Amino acid sequence: MCGIVGYIGTRQAAPILLDGLSKLEYRGYDSAGVCVFSDAGFQIEKTKGRLAALCELTQDGASLKGTLGIGHTRWATHGAPSHENSHPHLSSNGKICVVHNGIIENYLLLKEYLLAQGKTFVSDTDTEVAANLLEYYYEMEGDLLRAARRAVEKLSGSYALGILCADRPDTMLAVKKDSPLIFGFGKGENFIASDVPAILRYTREVVYLNDGDMVEFTANDAKFYNTLGEVVQKTPEHITWEMSAAEKGGYPHFMMKEIHEQPKALRDTINPRIKNGRVVLDDIKLTPEYLRGIRRIYIVACGSAYYVGCLGKYILEKTCRIPVEPILASEFRYSQPVLGDDTLVIIISQSGETADTLAALREANNLGARTLAIVNVVGSAISKAAHDVIYTWAGPEIAVATTKAYSTQLSVLYLLAMYIGDALGTLPGAEYNAMCKALLQLPDRIEEILTKENLAHIEALAEEFKGHHDVFFIGRNLDSATCLEGSLKLKEIAYVHSEAYAAGELKHGPISLIEDNTLVIAVSCVPELFEKTMSNVKEVKARGANVLGLTTANYEHEITKTVDRYLLVPQTHPLLQPSLNVVPLQIFSYYVALARGCDVDKPRNLAKSVTVE
Ligand code: GLU
Repeated sequence: MCGIVGYIGTRQAAPILLDGLSKLEYRGYDSAGVCVFSDAGFQIEKTKGRLAALCELTQDGASLKGTLGIGHTRWATHGAPSHENSHPHLSSNGKICVVHNGIIENYLLLKEYLLAQGKTFVSDTDTEVAANLLEYYYEMEGDLLRAARRAVEKLSGSYALGILCADRPDTMLAVKKDSPLIFGFGKGENFIASDVPAILRYTREVVYLNDGDMVEFTANDAKFYNTLGEVVQKTPEHITWEMSAAEKGGYPHFMMKEIHEQPKALRDTINPRIKNGRVVLDDIKLTPEYLRGIRRIYIVACGSAYYVGCLGKYILEKTCRIPVEPILASEFRYSQPVLGDDTLVIIISQSGETADTLAALREANNLGARTLAIVNVVGSAISKAAHDVIYTWAGPEIAVATTKAYSTQLSVLYLLAMYIGDALGTLPGAEYNAMCKALLQLPDRIEEILTKENLAHIEALAEEFKGHHDVFFIGRNLDSATCLEGSLKLKEIAYVHSEAYAAGELKHGPISLIEDNTLVIAVSCVPELFEKTMSNVKEVKARGANVLGLTTANYEHEITKTVDRYLLVPQTHPLLQPSLNVVPLQIFSYYVALARGCDVDKPRNLAKSVTVE
């Protein structure tokens, strides 16, 4: 998920690799490494932590001779950030060297097979499986290209791979599927990289590799192959962007880039955990006996992760019939919570380092509850302290306001709800199957929201409403929890005062704040409550409010009767609907923030991970 750089030419490779990796630092990482081939064979240096440490270790690359090499920044998915797990990885006999970005979903199965074939493993990564699989086929085929083709046929998941073979010290191989990889043409030198900035200093002539593409290259030559193994001609694109634009993949802000990364992040998080129509959570050790004994679930988190927990209450109670209480970590830790071994405490944090959440987790552990963490950073403090962990595989999130981490956290709650509901027999088979199908389709549905037309429509609405100083979000049931997140987004990045209320609560107080032209955003996507929410909309309209409605496409006709403006989302399984509803709200806040001249990626007074109480 992070960075790859590869170089073959006449210059010393290591300084170029390190320079390239430094241009990929923005992608986030937890360890870094390089491998260079020289007369001494493969020389590998790697380290957990910052790239600066690797530069120090190698005197900015000067200590590594050789004009061919691969470099990597790792964002751990399988195995904690450590020296052993850092890339590059060697195969058992030391002949094949690999860097990899992505996730190999079937790595356990392959690992068992390769162990039985006598291959050895020194790391916990999925990547080492690729190295050994390449070695296995190389021994069989005696040809690196053929071996690589056979190996990738066996891999499922996402990968960008840079491959070296000690028998072919002038050649490099690269292949990709669902993880980015580009090829750069130089003069008497060639490059691969995860992204343009890594090589922009050396070349502006690049080829964006397609899924299934493989390239075999030397310093002076490059041969491209498609999935069928046919040679294909590739015409390089000339990059006209400057470095700062390239880092964001052509998007003006990381937030917009990350909004667009949600389909991929969801695929990475969901797909490996649904096998043959069943949710498989290899990561956790909750036995059916334990699950049957749970009397109460707490969901403990801060900020947007807490709002995922608010959705989780509706989702888990419906599917598992166990009382669920979402609670803010900063409150939980000082509330003397009543916990015991019949309480499951679910902890949610993107960074896995959130101070209040970590303290709450420790408190829960001390009080004898079982703790299960949902985090995005492998090896983080929360992942280590919890009894069980389910990782969101969102990749690094750079913008302070969360989008893809929120979405993947929610998707893990769905998986968990189905897993527990199934074990307890509280989720009927037909419902389970429907949820499973809808969950796998979520990424496609989000792609339908992210069309140019939709973005332009939301941008126009943002322009129209940018001057409002007070905004009210209203919704019922699941929609009320989505409102909390929509409202937070607007506060965080657009600095607009906004409140979220369960629509039924309006008349118990907040309606007194509604006056001429107050903006009310009404989320109404729970079918059986549509009419009820529309009644609340009529109440605020009667007091002069300007109402922007959000509903599912099949309610378009209905909603036009009541609101002033509206946004539509595709319809999905009712419990999964919030995953779609939040996306236009993220985009709306983004455009309001832009229109108000705010710093979208780095809003004032906020930090990405809150490591103080
Ligand atoms: N899944 C691999 C690992 O955990 C690669 C992660 C990455 O993309 O950096 O080592």
